[in-house]
Amino acid sequence: MKSVLLFLAGVLVGANVVYFLVRRDCPAPAMAPPALSVAPVTQPVMPPGTSALPPAPAPARTPVASSPGAALPASAIATTPAIAGLLLPVAGIAPRQLTDTFGDDRQGTRRHEALDIMAARGTPVLAASDGKVAKLFTSVRGGLTIYEFDPASTYCYYYAHLDRYANGLVEGQALKRGDVIGYVGSTGDASPDAPHLHFAIFLLGPEKQWWKGTPINPYPLLASASGSR
Ligand SMILES: [Zn+2]
Repeated sequence: MKSVLLFLAGVLVGANVVYFLVRRDCPAPAMAPPALSVAPVTQPVMPPGTSALPPAPAPARTPVASSPGAALPASAIATTPAIAGLLLPVAGIAPRQLTDTFGDDRQGTRRHEALDIMAARGTPVLAASDGKVAKLFTSVRGGLTIYEFDPASTYCYYYAHLDRYANGLVEGQALKRGDVIGYVGSTGDASPDAPHLHFAIFLLGPEKQWWKGTPINPYPLLASASGSR
C-alpha cells in the first residue's frame, strides 16, 4: 500500500513539473513602466538570461484594469468598426485553431489577459488592423514587442515574443491591416520549445499611453474573423 502511494505521489509531482514547463511564459500586455518609454527605438534581442533592461517593476495599471473580470466584454465593443474587422494576426492560422487563453492564471497572481497563438518560428505576424506603430519595445517578459494604435488611437494591439521585426519597421509608421510587421518567435519569457504570438488588445485611456489600458479578450473577436490565407 505504501509503495502505491509513493508511486502516485511521484506521478503527481511529475505531472506538475510538466504542467509548469508547458505553462510558464507570457507577459501581461502592458507592463512597461513609463520611465522606460524613452528607450531606444529598437534594441537587439538579448540572449536568454540577459537583458539590457532592469527588472520591470509592477506595471502601472488603471484601477479598472487591475481588477479581475474588469475586461470589457467583447460583445460590448464588437460593433466598433476598428475592432470588428480584425485580422487574425498570424499568417496561415485559421480561427478554429485558436484556444481562448485570456483568463489563464500566470504565476498564480495575475491573469494572462491576452491570446497565445501557437505557430512555427518565423511565421509572419500581420497587423490585425490599420493603424500605426506606437512603440517598438524590448521587455524582460515580452521580449521583442510591437504596440500598434488603431487610426483613432482608441485601441492598442500588442504583439510579443517576436523573433524579429519586419525589415525597416519604425515607430510612427502607418500600417495597413495585413502588413507583415514581424515574425513569430519566443523572445522574452516564452518557452523556446513553444514559439507563439502573444497578442493582446487594450482600450487606451485618455492619455493614450502605449503601456496602459483596459484589456479586452481578443478571442471572440478573432474566432469569428477570416483567416489570413
Ligand atoms: Zn501569452
